[in-house]
Amino acid sequence: MRNITPKIKNKSPGTSNRSSSTNVLRQLHLELISLEEENRTLRQILASSSDPIIITTNEPKIIYVNLAWEKLTGYSFEEVIGKNPRFLQSGKTPRYVYKKMWKTLLLGQTFTSEKVINKKKNGNEYQIRSNIYPVLQNGKAIYYVQLQHNITSIKRLEELQKELLSAAAHELKTPITVLKLLTQSHIYKAQKQGNDSISINELKMIDKEIDRFIRIINDMLDSSRFETGKLLMNYEQVNVGQLIISIVEKIQIYTKTHNIVYAHKIKDIFVVADPQRLEQVLLNLLSNAIKYSPEDSQITVSLINDDKKITVSVQDEGIGIPKSKQKLIFDRYYQVKTKKRQGFGLGLYISKEIIKQHHGKLWVESNGKKGSLFLFSLPLKTD
Ligand code: ADP
Repeated sequence: MRNITPKIKNKSPGTSNRSSSTNVLRQLHLELISLEEENRTLRQILASSSDPIIITTNEPKIIYVNLAWEKLTGYSFEEVIGKNPRFLQSGKTPRYVYKKMWKTLLLGQTFTSEKVINKKKNGNEYQIRSNIYPVLQNGKAIYYVQLQHNITSIKRLEELQKELLSAAAHELKTPITVLKLLTQSHIYKAQKQGNDSISINELKMIDKEIDRFIRIINDMLDSSRFETGKLLMNYEQVNVGQLIISIVEKIQIYTKTHNIVYAHKIKDIFVVADPQRLEQVLLNLLSNAIKYSPEDSQITVSLINDDKKITVSVQDEGIGIPKSKQKLIFDRYYQVKTKKRQGFGLGLYISKEIIKQHHGKLWVESNGKKGSLFLFSLPLKTD
C-alpha cells in the first residue's frame, strides 16, 4: 500500500510552527485528492473493460466485480461482495484445474486456465478462459485479480462445426457409394465387351478418386465418432501375421511404384483386436509410406513379439519427419508443410485412437532427413 503519511519536521515553536502545520494539512489534503482521483480512474478502467473482472482477497473473498462480470453471471456486485467465489462452480471443471491453480497462486505466480465451466445465477453454464494475477506484498499474495474471457459462444460454434461436419459426411456417403458401384459396373461391362483401353483406364482413374473420397468421408465420420465416444470396436481373436500378409498383397496389386518387403518371415501371432480397425491402421501406415516416399523405393514391414506384446513396424525411405513435428502429426488435421502434402491430416489421428482403444501404442521414429519408421505395439492377452 502506498504510504500517504507526510514527513513532519518539528521546527521551533511559535508562528512559524503554526504556518508549517497549515502547510502540512494543505499537503495532506492534496495527497488525498490525488489518491481519490487515482482510485476513481482505476475503478473506471476496471468498470469499462468489456471482459469480466473479479478481484478477491487471499482468503478468498470477493471484493470487486465489474459490470461485464455482473452481465455475464446475472449476479449484482452487492449480492456477491464478501462471498467465496466457490459458489460459481458448476462441478464440471476437472478438480486438477483448481489444484493446479492454487499451487501456482501460492507460489506467487500468474495462473492461466484454458477452460473453466461456471454457473450463472439462472443456473445456465458459461465457459471462461482466465488469467489470475496475485498482488504481492512482502512476497505474499494479498489480492487476486482475475481477468476472464467468455468463450461460451466459441465452444458452441466448435460443437456446431463438428455436428455439421458429421452431418455433411453422412449426406455425402450415399451418393458417392452409388457412383462407385456405377463406375465399377461400367468397368466390368467395358472390359467384357473389349472396349478400347483408354476409356477403361479413365474409368479406373475415376474409381481410384472415388476411393480417395470415400476414405476422406470415412475418416471424417470416424473422427467425429471419437469425439463423441461413439466409435465401438468388435473384438475377436485375430491372426496379425495373416492380416499383414493379406493387406500387403492387396496393396501391391494396385501399387507398382513401390516395393513392399518383409524384414523377416512373418509368423502367425494371435491378439484380441478388431480386425477391420487393425486393417485400417495398417492401410494408413502403408499408404502414407507410399505417399511420402519416392517411386521405386522400398517399404519394409516387420512383426515381432515378446512375452507381453507384439510390435508391427512400417519403414520407408521417404522425406522423413522433423523431430519437432513427430508428436504433432498425430493431432487432428495436422499436416507437415511440404510440397508432398496430400490428404486431410486425419489418418494418423484415427490410427492412434484405434491403437489406444486396443490399449496399445503408436509412435514414429525418424532422423528428420530421410525415412520414417512407424511402429505400433499391442498387448498380448494370454487368457
Ligand atoms: P494425411 O496423410 O492425410 O495428411 P495423416 O494423419 O496420415 O494425414 O498424416 C499426417 C501428416 O504426417 C502428413 O500430412 C505428413 O506430413 C506426415 N506423415 C505421415 N506419414 C508420413 C511418412 N511416412 N513420411 C513422411 N511424413 C509423413
